[in-house]
Parts: sequence; C-alpha cells; structure tokens
Amino acid sequence: MKQTGYRLIALLLLCASSQIWAESAVKGMRMWPAPDHTRLVFDTTAPVEHSLFTLKEPDRLVIDIKDTRLSTDTEQLDYSSSLLTGIRSAQRNGKDLRVVLDLKGAVTPKSFVLRPSQEYGHRLVLDLYDSGSKPEPVRTTLKSISSRQKARDIVIAIDAGHGGDDPGAIGPNGVKEKDVVLAIARKLKKMVDQEPGMSAVMIRDGDYFVGLKKRVKLARQTHKADFLISIHADSFNDARARGSSVYTLSSGGATSERARQLAEKENASDLVGGVSLDDKDDLLASVLLDLSQTATTEASVDVASRVLGEIRAVNKLHKRKVEQAGFRVLKAPDVPSILVETAFISNPAEERNLNSSTHQEKMAKAIMEGVRDYFTDNPPPGTVLAMNKKRKHVISQGETLSAIAEYYQVSLNSLRNLNRLESNTLRVGQVLQIPTDS
Ligand SMILES: [Zn+2]
Repeated sequence: MKQTGYRLIALLLLCASSQIWAESAVKGMRMWPAPDHTRLVFDTTAPVEHSLFTLKEPDRLVIDIKDTRLSTDTEQLDYSSSLLTGIRSAQRNGKDLRVVLDLKGAVTPKSFVLRPSQEYGHRLVLDLYDSGSKPEPVRTTLKSISSRQKARDIVIAIDAGHGGDDPGAIGPNGVKEKDVVLAIARKLKKMVDQEPGMSAVMIRDGDYFVGLKKRVKLARQTHKADFLISIHADSFNDARARGSSVYTLSSGGATSERARQLAEKENASDLVGGVSLDDKDDLLASVLLDLSQTATTEASVDVASRVLGEIRAVNKLHKRKVEQAGFRVLKAPDVPSILVETAFISNPAEERNLNSSTHQEKMAKAIMEGVRDYFTDNPPPGTVLAMNKKRKHVISQGETLSAIAEYYQVSLNSLRNLNRLESNTLRVGQVLQIPTDS
C-alpha cells in the first residue's frame, strides 16, 4: 500500500516534468502572405509576453514567449508564397516557448497582441516585412511624369472588404464574405481597366487582411485614386433579410439605426482582422473637420445613387435610398468613397447568388455602369475623360473650319467626317465634335 503510494507520486512527478507547467499555450497558428509582408498569427489561451530577435547566416527570427507551451503542430502551414521556409520550436527553462522561423531573407518584424474578438481568443500577431523590398511608388511616379504632357486615366480604387483572419460575414452554407467580395472586386477591376480613360487598383488582391486606415492610405497616397469603392456583403440574424444597399460616410450621426449598427460591424474588422491598437487614427480624425470634405461628400452621394440605380436591375434593393454612417474605410477627406453591401450572405438564396460567377459579373457590371455614368458627367480636370468632354466646339462669328482644325491639331478631313459636313460652311452657334485620336 505504502509502496503503491510512492509509485503514484513518482508517476505524477514524471508527468509533471514532461507536461511542462506553463501558464498558457499556443493552440493554433495561421499564416497570411500579403504582397508587402507575411503575417503569422498565434492563438494563445491567455495574453502572453514575448520578445523577438533576429539571427543572420542563415536569416532567422526567434520569438520567445513567456510561460507558454505549444499545443498545435506547425506542419500544416504552407510556406510557398511567404517569406518563411520553416518553423521550429522548443521549450526553454522548462516553461518558456521558443519559436524559430527560418527565413528566405532578412525581414523587419513587427509584433503585437490582440484581445479576444468575435471568433478569436487572445492572439499574438507577427508581421514580417521583407527588408530588401522598397515601398512601391513606381506607378504613381510614372503617372505624375506623364500627366504633365498627357491627360491621365481616372483611377478607381477597388476595396474588397475583410480578408485573412477576418472572414467578414459567413453564410448559412459556409460562404465567406471575404471570398465573394474579392471575386466581385476582381471582375470589376477587369471592367474598369477595359474602359477608355479609366484604370483600377486593387486595395487587397488575395486572402490577407489590410487595416481600414491602411486601405484609405493606399487609395489616397499610394495610388492617388479619384474614387474608392468598398465591396461587402450584409448579414442579419433573420435569414429573410435580403437586398442590396449603398452607403457613404457620415461624419455626424447615421441616417438610421441599422446604418449605424452596420458601420459598427464593418469597423470591427480592424479588431477581428488584427490591427495593433497603438496605430492611432489622428490624421483621419482631424481631416474630417476640414470643410473641403463637403465636395467629397456630395460627389460620394452622387456616385452612390447612380450605382444604387444600376443595382436595382440586378437585385432587389434593401434600401431605396443611399444611407450614411461612420464607416472608417470611407474616411478619405478628398477621395469620394462609397460602400456597397452587395446582398445578404445570411439569406440562403442571396448567398448562392453571391457565390455564382454569373451573378458576381452582373453585380460588378452594375457598379461599373454607375461609376462610368458619374465620371462621364463629372470628369476630374486633367483626365482623358475631361478632355473628351471638353472637345466640343461652339462656332462663333468669323471662325473657319481650317482654323478650328489647326487649333485642336486635328486633320480637316477627320473634323469634316466626324461632323458629317458636306462643305466648309459653318453657322454661328453650331456645335462641332472634335476628334480625339489625333
Ligand atoms: Zn463587410
């Protein structure tokens, strides 16, 4: 009896030493490769303290997590499009966890912890930026050089909501908002790029998260966009709710309680997707007070109503009018921005539509038509569309066809052909179309 007791204690001690007594555990790991960084997310059972350091030849990053053990396997991660080649881990001092990342090259790491949010518990987020890569000013530089001589394209920033750790709303059959909105966004990009005088940029073009503030910054600063369109799918706890709606920013109150709640839900994206809380929003807060916002707001509402008008032909409308609320992704002070809730993913029929390529195409086309309609009427100065719009000439006293041809640097023949002129005789007040191709 006595001996059995000792044996039991010995067995317990053995268990204790192999089953390290750490406070918390890493119970899951996810990796999201983005164009400018690779994000590694550790799900932890409690808030953790950690430290990082890098090693050279070969490049490695070491993460020490205090009082933590690993209770997941790292084998399931796919490193192919990331900055990593492998992950190793070991226990240190009997209680700390050391994770070693084998890297393809030098990286600049950034790390932060996140409190529980929606489906996630505590997380430790690690962003690895490729140290060799420079920020991508190529496109804008080219634009600014060429824009001095030539009219430029109107740049449309297409923002597929959510991504990475943030799936957005999930339909009854498991369709994820982040996937269907990216599919619609890609179709829309193709259409915009085919449009003369317009080109599109994707704010997110893969399954990774981009913070809301960063989305605005990419549109305004990196791409100097003329317009931002954020694409989403709605959800509600009543599966019968359906239809599309279009929103613009309200700097004050929301136009309805539902709009306010929706903005709150979409803004929670930062917490779910993972944005460090010390990323302050000071710029956006202050510029909102700027009066120049008025023109942007008017333009936003105008495009939004035109887009809503086109969507009417494709899907039932949830709201007949454009509504306003405080969506963070629409907060660029000088870039008109709209947010489209394409349909309710919580409604089984609309979930199916959202997942259908044909329907995605129709939705993208409706958005395209609304945007084209607005910019044909209101082309920003210096753009190809502005030039085309201006290229009408009203004849005044004493003007000749050859003088007009010379002024616009077009051939007399093309001018005559376009306007179906039989002779060179003009009358005062007559409107001539000016060819654009010469
Ligand atoms: Zn959304």
